[in-house]
Amino acid sequence: MRIILLGPPGSGKGTQAQLLLQRYGIVQLSTGEMLRAAVAAGTPVGLKAKEIMASGGLVPDDVVVGIISDRIDQPDARNGFILDGFPRTVPQAEALDELLKHKHLKLDAVIELRVNESALLNRVETRVAQMRERGEEVRLDDTPEVLTKRLASYRNQTEPLIHYYSERRKLSTIDGMMAIDEVTRAIHRLLLALGAVEPKTHGKTRSAAKADPAKKGKTAKESAKKPAKTAKKAAKSKKVAKKAVKGATKAAKKTVKKAVKKAGKKKAAKKTARKAVKKGAKKAAKKVTKRRAKR
Ligand code: AMP
Repeated sequence: MRIILLGPPGSGKGTQAQLLLQRYGIVQLSTGEMLRAAVAAGTPVGLKAKEIMASGGLVPDDVVVGIISDRIDQPDARNGFILDGFPRTVPQAEALDELLKHKHLKLDAVIELRVNESALLNRVETRVAQMRERGEEVRLDDTPEVLTKRLASYRNQTEPLIHYYSERRKLSTIDGMMAIDEVTRAIHRLLLALGAVEPKTHGKTRSAAKADPAKKGKTAKESAKKPAKTAKKAAKSKKVAKKAVKGATKAAKKTVKKAVKKAGKKKAAKKTARKAVKKGAKKAAKKVTKRRAKR
């Protein structure tokens, strides 16, 4: 599976990418992370990017395209990847199309996380506070001033990608203002609908739901439905059985009636026969008496 997460800084691309890669066993390719690593390592790319990144600008297209192309060729990306923070400009998107075509790879989806701009500053402030709490180094570009600049470059250079991918029927938009797990679920549903993931990844979630008391309600409801269904079935089969007995009784009654009728007929016939015999005998006796009197 190969997907792009699109959204302004603070929209949750990084958080969602982390959750999705755990679930699907793919890698997250974040150009921001790679560039920060290059800056920290003091590589030529890092030296080029350092100032630009600190001011909230965009690193030249050819630099990031080169980084991504090399990264896609790594063995761990063979299973699939989530592009986070790339492409950021239309020329980068065009370069990616070419690159994937050349590598015979297909893009499954471009997911836009739509958020209210007013919420972004708050989100980034929360991220900074959490990083400080964990004792992590805070990003140099996570300040209100630089964020304003990063937002401006998103609006001017990255937002046109929404049109670019929607024209190519690749774009799906998800409400990025929902709770983190709700966004993850929405992305999963979308990937299922697109056929980018197998329904069995759902199974993983289901078994996880067993251990999750918040999700147990649904499981309990589901299992409560089962006995009710069985009882319904049993009741139905009882009805069927009763009907069958009734039917059998009816049939038996009919047979008995027929037999009785038949027997009755036989009795009557016997009676008639007996009467006839009696009559015949009387007639014969009378004839004999008449003949004797004549003599
Ligand atoms: P991010 O971690 O995605 O917010 O990126 C941090 C900074 O890295 C950005 O503000 C840019 O200066 C630079 N950067 C990351 N990805 C790109 C990209 N695809 N194109 C140009 N610059 C980038």
